[in-house]
Amino acid sequence: MDSLPGDSPAADNLEKLARDVNSCQKCPLYRVATRGVPGEGPPNAKILFIGEAPGYYEDQQGRPFVGAAGQLLEEVLGLIGLTRRDVYITNILKHRPPGNRDPERSEIEACGEYLDRQLTLIRPRLICTLGRFSMARFFPPKSMRELHGCSVRYGDATCYALYHPAAALRDPRVKDLFVEDFRRIPEVLAQAEAAAARAPAESPSQNPPGEPSGEQLSLF
Ligand code: URA
Repeated sequence: MDSLPGDSPAADNLEKLARDVNSCQKCPLYRVATRGVPGEGPPNAKILFIGEAPGYYEDQQGRPFVGAAGQLLEEVLGLIGLTRRDVYITNILKHRPPGNRDPERSEIEACGEYLDRQLTLIRPRLICTLGRFSMARFFPPKSMRELHGCSVRYGDATCYALYHPAAALRDPRVKDLFVEDFRRIPEVLAQAEAAAARAPAESPSQNPPGEPSGEQLSLF
């Protein structure tokens, strides 16, 4: 069952969140998906990646990014000396849309609570958005072409916009940009740590989508 409004935040944790996702009926996707895909990674991860929605293999296994896009994600993590076990990986939607269609606004809204809870529990320093749907959750309404490689402050975290690895697999020019932006993650993380040390912590919920706090949109 989903958490009730009166639930203590202290009682919340990632295992409970995974159970809530797996029994979620907030939107109709649970009827057509095989299982929920809450996300995975260390509860204290400094970097959190947000994709779009589970695809076929993710839906089968209940794990995010285990198909071709996930393989590319693992490759580029290797370029910066990380593995998927070092980072938290999740999606905007926790159930697979039929035929991998785009997420609908009502589904994104219904699922938003789970991402909010993950951000509150994990408190990552750096939130990397993968593709336009997760980017739209944190950045002003601009195109992927304009925003990739840009960052904004979000509470005491920094959000960094990256192309979706599936888009990189479809177009070699996008792949070059994706890899170039990805290689900057250690530098962006260092800037994020420095910004967090300077600024007092704010609640991410004080910064609704499209209204980044603190620093202006910046290009790394
Ligand atoms: N694409 C996504 O956006 N998320 C996944 O988990 C897999 C593919």
